[in-house]
Amino acid sequence: MSIVVVGSIGYDTVETTHGGVTDALGGSASFFALAARFFAPVSIVAAVGTDFRAEDWQLFRERSIDVRGMVQLDGPTFRWHGRYHEDMNIRDTVSLALNVFEGFKPDLLPDQKRADYVFLSNISPELQAHVLAQVASPRVVVADTMNHWIVNDRKELMRLLLKVNILTLNDEEARLLSGESNLVRAGRAILKMGPATVLVKRGEYGVLKFGQDSMFAVPAWPLEEVVDPTGAGDTFAGALMGWIARIGRLNESILRTGIVYGSVLASFAVEQFSVARLAALTWEDVEERYRAFIEMTDSHHSRWMSP
Ligand code: AMP
Repeated sequence: MSIVVVGSIGYDTVETTHGGVTDALGGSASFFALAARFFAPVSIVAAVGTDFRAEDWQLFRERSIDVRGMVQLDGPTFRWHGRYHEDMNIRDTVSLALNVFEGFKPDLLPDQKRADYVFLSNISPELQAHVLAQVASPRVVVADTMNHWIVNDRKELMRLLLKVNILTLNDEEARLLSGESNLVRAGRAILKMGPATVLVKRGEYGVLKFGQDSMFAVPAWPLEEVVDPTGAGDTFAGALMGWIARIGRLNESILRTGIVYGSVLASFAVEQFSVARLAALTWEDVEERYRAFIEMTDSHHSRWMSP
């Protein structure tokens, strides 16, 4: 079952306490697709500029990512420059240039309009709605958002939330959207805005899932060294949606497994700058860490049972 993702594809300049990169491949759709491809076919809707590098087209193509919906427009590619604090949960946006992404109003390809699974990354709610309106009968719609849209485009965002099954956002955004400082209250308040599931991403502290009648929490995979947290959220969403698409159904158990795969893929993404680790990752790497993750979080593991 195929997935359509709309989001940014860009060149990131990133600074962390481990060093930095300049004009490295990034953007929400890049991270999402490089994670989702392990589970199901994924097709990108995005705009890139004339400076988009041949090696980056190749990187997607070699990993079976469908790039027919990536249009190359006259002008420079989207650019983002971020700087992380020593506490990597905090980052500053040094600069952002939408470039060819500005005013981008894509027309989906005929097969993209028939997609079952749609991921609307943290672009403007107007563009998210524009894409969603073209998909005939999506089974599952997942959306992400960010502070900027919660503050500046709240009305459009609230309209979109009525059509979204799963919303992902970080803890700060959940507090801002709900007006609640307590995360449990925030999660419950956002459920009332439309999505049946709200996933609150808490960086190195993991993910909290709120549903109509249940909560679920997973930690992040503990790493000795986080090199670059950029794209962790999109990577998480890519694996989650990939898993849902691979199974072709959605229930609590499928969702929970998807959240664990999301956490596993995100833990790889942050090990190196840009998409380097995701691009080099194998399915064996994913499976090995998935098994270790299950063992780490299983309080009833048979190994610890007394005879
Ligand atoms: P994340 O760390 O999950 O928030 O994702 C970061 C990625 O999103 C980077 O690769 C950026 O290129 C991209 N990004 C940052 N700001 C924006 C924005 N306003 N719109 C679209 N993409 C963005």
